[in-house]
Amino acid sequence: MNKTWIIPVIALAFSLGSCTSITDNKADAIVADTAEVKQAELVRTAEDQSKFTAEDVISRFKQGNKRFTSNKLITRDLPAKVRENSGVQYPLAVILSCMDSRIPPETVFDESIGDLFVVRVAGNVINDDILGSMEYACKVSGAKLILVLGHGDCGAVKSAIKKVKLGNITELLTKIKPAIEKSASYAGDKSYKNHDFIDLVCLNNVFVAINEIKARSPILKEMANKGDITIVGALYDMHTGVVKFLE
Ligand SMILES: [Zn+2]
Repeated sequence: MNKTWIIPVIALAFSLGSCTSITDNKADAIVADTAEVKQAELVRTAEDQSKFTAEDVISRFKQGNKRFTSNKLITRDLPAKVRENSGVQYPLAVILSCMDSRIPPETVFDESIGDLFVVRVAGNVINDDILGSMEYACKVSGAKLILVLGHGDCGAVKSAIKKVKLGNITELLTKIKPAIEKSASYAGDKSYKNHDFIDLVCLNNVFVAINEIKARSPILKEMANKGDITIVGALYDMHTGVVKFLE
């Protein structure tokens, strides 16, 4: 059996509310130092993983995104990381993101091999397989954070607003319908041609996904209620590369 399936889940002391204490200034101040520290982060052990809180992981993502947007990505010895991580993995988070080719989560957060579980699907929607993947990431493998990463001007969201019908895409887009309904009170043009409306549905689509996770996974809901994990949303700006956390 793969070792990753027998990793014990480590209870952590953090709270959902504590995430709001993270500031961009703090992230700014330690970008450079973190770059040096991460150079030595060749392989993460279970002990290393247990030292992170969800707040730490969010802060780390903010720092990584600042490096990404300032073109200061860490240079890593990737073949060495492949070798050192070949037998184990203790990722810090599971990210659900849109499949959009312009938003690779590892890159936009300047993370690397062994750092993240990433689940990608058009429109960052929820289904049973994705929930099962998240349950594995958190309950079995000890990830501290679930991040739903949406983005503005999402093609899947636009297609859902446009009521596109094509093959299996039709069923996929029905999962975005609740976000459109959630945006029904928008006063302006509610068509796929209005970028402001599209972005509102993209935002609501992240909140819908978070609610779905809690409503459809008793395991993850219980972990969140106990403070063992934190579930947050964020939006990626397609023009700047900046990730804004929805806190
Ligand atoms: Zn998208």
